[in-house]
Amino acid sequence: MTEYTKDVADRVLRILQASGQVDETKMTEIMVQAESRSSRALALLMETKPDPDDPGKPPAAMVEEELVVNILSRAYALRRKNLAPSDVAKDALTSVPKDMIDREHILPFAREGRFLRVATVDPTKATLANQIKALSNQNVEFFLIKPSEFAACMGHEDVQASLGQKKKEEAAAAPAAEAPRPAPRRRSAYDIDDPTVVIKFVDDILEQSVTTDTSDIHIEPYRETARIRFRINGVLQAQDQFSDFLFHNYLAVITRLKILADCDIAEKRLPQDGAITFKAPDGEDVDTRFNVLPGKNGERICIRLLKGDPSLSIEKIGFKEADLKKLIDAITAPQGMVLVTGPTGSGKTTTLYGALQYINDPGTNIMTAEDPVEYYLEGLGQTQANEKIGLSFSSILRAFLRQDPEVILVGEIRDQETVEIAVKAALTGHLLLSTLHTNDAISTISRLLNMGVPSFMISAALSLVVAQRLARKNCPDCLVPDENATPAALEYIGFTAEEVQAMQPRKGSGCASCEGTGYKGRQGIYEVLRVTPEVEETILKQAQAPEILEAARLDNFMTMQEVGRDYIRDGVLCLEEFTRVLVVN
Ligand SMILES: [Zn+2]
Repeated sequence: MTEYTKDVADRVLRILQASGQVDETKMTEIMVQAESRSSRALALLMETKPDPDDPGKPPAAMVEEELVVNILSRAYALRRKNLAPSDVAKDALTSVPKDMIDREHILPFAREGRFLRVATVDPTKATLANQIKALSNQNVEFFLIKPSEFAACMGHEDVQASLGQKKKEEAAAAPAAEAPRPAPRRRSAYDIDDPTVVIKFVDDILEQSVTTDTSDIHIEPYRETARIRFRINGVLQAQDQFSDFLFHNYLAVITRLKILADCDIAEKRLPQDGAITFKAPDGEDVDTRFNVLPGKNGERICIRLLKGDPSLSIEKIGFKEADLKKLIDAITAPQGMVLVTGPTGSGKTTTLYGALQYINDPGTNIMTAEDPVEYYLEGLGQTQANEKIGLSFSSILRAFLRQDPEVILVGEIRDQETVEIAVKAALTGHLLLSTLHTNDAISTISRLLNMGVPSFMISAALSLVVAQRLARKNCPDCLVPDENATPAALEYIGFTAEEVQAMQPRKGSGCASCEGTGYKGRQGIYEVLRVTPEVEETILKQAQAPEILEAARLDNFMTMQEVGRDYIRDGVLCLEEFTRVLVVN
């Protein structure tokens, strides 16, 4: 009978002991009997013997095969199967050389489509998948079976006959003494058949994400391929250099990442969250949030790189001078509500953290409730919201108010309960910062009204609204006239005919310094609505947007579209990018 290898047996024995299946006395006794060889010890535990106290009972083992296979299935994340000799298909058996079957104790038993199913007793044989794939030209799926099933199948006359015939065919096919050539495949920087490369592969993904200034990494399986995308400058970009190796080693890559993220590698049906910290090429630690989600073709992964960014300065993220001053006035006031709005990826968090960094000092008690925590700032009390365990923004906010903070940041206001507490906090001596999902600054007011906040409370609590977008800037090294920016297109986005006459819109044409994309760096586009006495008045009488805008104009309010048009005129943005981030519909 096949004995388990030392490493595998060690692991099973540890689990048996930890789970109380075999007590310490018994384990010691067996180890002595096995002369401390764990393979032998496990074999002894699995040996079927008659019960000396009750000879009438059928012989039983101290540890059943079934239990061992289940333990291994879980520990090595391999599926298990009950296999009878009649389940073994001849065409499967003959797709792998007999020498290999004999040497490695593996049993190819079924071919289905592009898959070859291979049974084994030893879970570490799963590392042979790529080698078998190269020989059989099929994707390999491993299944764990019991040692007794393996023995019964291999000993069966039909299986032996198929293997014998195979041997003859192989002999007849000589002089092909050399191993069959693997099918040609696309070039890849990674040797697809070398499983030890997985660790380096994963390291490379993480490293390249840092050097390309990626904000998140997406790893996704499809039926015929797999891919990795980096979000760079807010846009997802496929990283094709990884695709081949990833597709052929998808499980191994996912498993490696799960191990790094401290997730359960055997759990494949439920989403899991974790965290990975790794060293960037410059030696800095990079923190990430890790999420794995089951999907139709396998698990997909999203890794978000957190920035411990010391350069988070509101002075450097692209506010116009007058707007920056309004923002600073609002966040240095002792109380009030400052809201930042914009779609996902528009840089709201950067603005909020820039504001927090500006006012962060040891004398100020700042508390944040976030989902997820995206940045780390020294000196802040940061709490991760978790709706699943009832830790909602509103419940955290309530708890905060008992801790007497001066400044509170709530990741997002999305329900009435949260908005009520937030407004109350802003009216009772706290500076409250948060985000809201609205298209622009002015419509934030009607959104708050719709959430049930009375207009007099909005006018009293709200001090400032920032609405924002994040656009890719033209690469300054390869500027050419922007042929998309026809007079008609420019007038469509709000330029006058005279303005069109006087301008020369530009775009990047792609060069080495922008990696051929034509874009380099990002430009925040902001509109900043200060709640002046005039704006307050329009809120109190629940005026429509045009009237609020008119009141805001008295304070030199500029819409994002107006700010963006300035950037087109100055050659900072191209028309296409303006349209992408600023034109709704
Ligand atoms: Zn360029």
